[in-house]
Amino acid sequence: MIIVFKPGAAQEAKLKVRAKLENQGFQIHESNGLNVTLYGIVGDTSAFDMRTLISDDCIEKIMRVQEPFKRANRAFHPEDSVIDVAGVPIGGRKIQVIAGPCSVESVEQVTSVAQSVKLGGASLLRGGAFKPRTSPYSFQGLKELGLDYLKAAREETGLPIVTEIMSADKIERFVEDVDLIQVGARNMQNFELLKELGKTRTPILLKRGLSATIEEWIMSAEYIMAGGNENVILCERGIRTFETYTRNTLDLSAIPAVKKLSHLPVVVDPSHAAGLWWMVEPLAKAAVAVGADGLLIEVHNDPEHALCDGAQSLKPERFARLMGELKGIAQIVGREL
Ligand code: PEP
Ligand code: MN
Repeated sequence: MIIVFKPGAAQEAKLKVRAKLENQGFQIHESNGLNVTLYGIVGDTSAFDMRTLISDDCIEKIMRVQEPFKRANRAFHPEDSVIDVAGVPIGGRKIQVIAGPCSVESVEQVTSVAQSVKLGGASLLRGGAFKPRTSPYSFQGLKELGLDYLKAAREETGLPIVTEIMSADKIERFVEDVDLIQVGARNMQNFELLKELGKTRTPILLKRGLSATIEEWIMSAEYIMAGGNENVILCERGIRTFETYTRNTLDLSAIPAVKKLSHLPVVVDPSHAAGLWWMVEPLAKAAVAVGADGLLIEVHNDPEHALCDGAQSLKPERFARLMGELKGIAQIVGREL
């Protein structure tokens, strides 16, 4: 349920309404626009008698929210959310690009890729330290050492770091060292992990599950937000369909859909969607054209010998060229890159 106050409604009157609702056990999510204040009511309002508020003439209207997600709902927060990741705003006019190798392989590798992607115009560095691999025999990541190497690359370049968490027992270390914590597609519905991340205030990059609907994906964001961590960025990374030519199918329609349903920023990962390096460029362009707030692109100095996802990784020169080409598209859609 949403309460829309009349423009210029007195603070005292609004607080009276707040007290009335809180006494009934509801939580209030307040959103202040240029002229109007909204109260998003969280809790089971199905039995709530709205007539108890009718007498408050500071109220313009009361609306029911159909969707099961509340805090992530655009109705609760009509303006786009801008998430601050160590000084880099995600969700504003500027499209931010996260780039780097699939996995951290050595301190030299991650630092050199970090330097190249920074030169190319990336504003955040990615690199997997804990890797969710389909096969237990595949490279599982350098783990804690990988985090140390990412920190060294951040020190060298100033780029904030993005890396994936796989279990709640690592949260303390991630909060200490990581600027944007990635929840991978395979953990999108690991609700215990999401709840624990909700207790932190570190920004979270929540990837869409392999076969998750848009609503399930936003509900996972709601899990994190329900704990008080509203710093959630969604990431479309392709979904499972009958098509096998590409690794996944990039769901471009998810971007405008999420923008309609939610105020959270959306980043697109064309690398994991396609699985093919030569498709990253056209898909990245398409993502910018349909309104993505950012991109996540895998870049490797030596893709042929990458320990993970070499086939979808761009070489640094190609990445830099792509960044140049994206600028024009960003401009056409009223953005900056
Ligand atoms: C990744 O970003 O390296 C990754 C494993 O992505 P996803 O969870 O989307 O498969
Ligand atoms: Mn990868």
